[in-house]
Amino acid sequence: MPYPIIKLKSQHSKPVLSGHPWIFSGAVDKTESELVDGALCRIVDEKGKFLAVGYYNSHSTIACRILSLHDIPIDREFLASRIVAAMNYRIKTACATRDAYRLINTEGDFLPGLIVDVYNGGLVLQISTTGMERLKDIIIETLTGLLNPPFIYERSDIPGRKLEGLPASAGLLHGKLPSEIVIREHDCRFHIDIPKGHKTGWYLDQAENRLASRQFAEGDSVLNCFSYTGGFTVHALKAGAKAVVSVDSSAEANALCERNLDLNNLKGKGEIITDDVFDYLRKGKEKFDLIILDPPPFAKNKNAVPQAARGYKDINLLALKKLNPGGVLLTFTCSQHIDDKLFSQIVFSAAADSGKEIRLIRKFGHPLDHPVNIAHREGYYLRGLALEI
Ligand code: SAH
Repeated sequence: MPYPIIKLKSQHSKPVLSGHPWIFSGAVDKTESELVDGALCRIVDEKGKFLAVGYYNSHSTIACRILSLHDIPIDREFLASRIVAAMNYRIKTACATRDAYRLINTEGDFLPGLIVDVYNGGLVLQISTTGMERLKDIIIETLTGLLNPPFIYERSDIPGRKLEGLPASAGLLHGKLPSEIVIREHDCRFHIDIPKGHKTGWYLDQAENRLASRQFAEGDSVLNCFSYTGGFTVHALKAGAKAVVSVDSSAEANALCERNLDLNNLKGKGEIITDDVFDYLRKGKEKFDLIILDPPPFAKNKNAVPQAARGYKDINLLALKKLNPGGVLLTFTCSQHIDDKLFSQIVFSAAADSGKEIRLIRKFGHPLDHPVNIAHREGYYLRGLALEI
């Protein structure tokens, strides 16, 4: 292959051989001088033996991301085969009652730097690396050829691009964006704001957990904290909850939550409060049978873990105190740096401080459409616990 060569230092090939898709800059011994950021490259060990094909970036602490462990060209055919594999996996694992799902989950689909989400046939693309940016045109052509989507919209307006030396990029890439986008998640429907919503418009990663939450909701008074546009709220009401209070600090998210209640003929059934969840939980004496805590990531990096842990403990303790006897807490974290063990420790320590008798009744994780490369533990970020008083 003609790609320029990146030679690793001795003792640094093992993670690559075990399938880890990142090579940190400290592992690189030499690069060929003509290497530009985002360029495809062949990675070899200290003896010059081929290890992988990937792309390079001098701006990032992740110097290379691996695309293949085979010595093959990264061309149209290669990208199409990866995309078709991702499509086939979604067909095999499809949930027939959802028309919004993640089609390509970056490293989990062996395409680092690329996310593609499907919303009722339309596609939203998010590119986080310079290497993937250079492959963007082929990816768009391939997606268009394979899926003939009514639109492809880009939401690469994420902070991570700065680390790569890339500007934010958002807008329509193909077709026409309808004035209203409504998706179906089981018997619920939701308005999605693709240009302005969080992530690519919707928290697709919580779809299976929203469904699972329903078995705790019938007949309950429910408090949905960090409710965004009402995902857990609408599911709880559809499952027969008596009443749902939704709390989120974003007025825009709450306005869409209101419209989502309306869309599901649940107008007037839920109270929507614009407030900080920490403040809300400290106020009032109202108690609930089911509380959902689905906060944004409190730990954006490793250094933030101790402070994040205190934040998670605080909200969990505050929520546990607001539960009726027999009540259930569904508590989540999407901080990649808070692993299973640490999250359990934090939540169980809040449980111990609450002075109540509490049992663990369920664990939650990633949905099927967000697979994770097992060599790439960093890709696993979403976890949850169900506790019962
Ligand atoms: N559960 C939602 C996703 C929640 S995302 C779903 O299933 O769709 C996290 C939400 O927390 C965002 O909507 C954000 O606006 C909100 N948020 C962030 N910090 C907050 C705070 N301190 N108090 C209240 N809401 C907050």
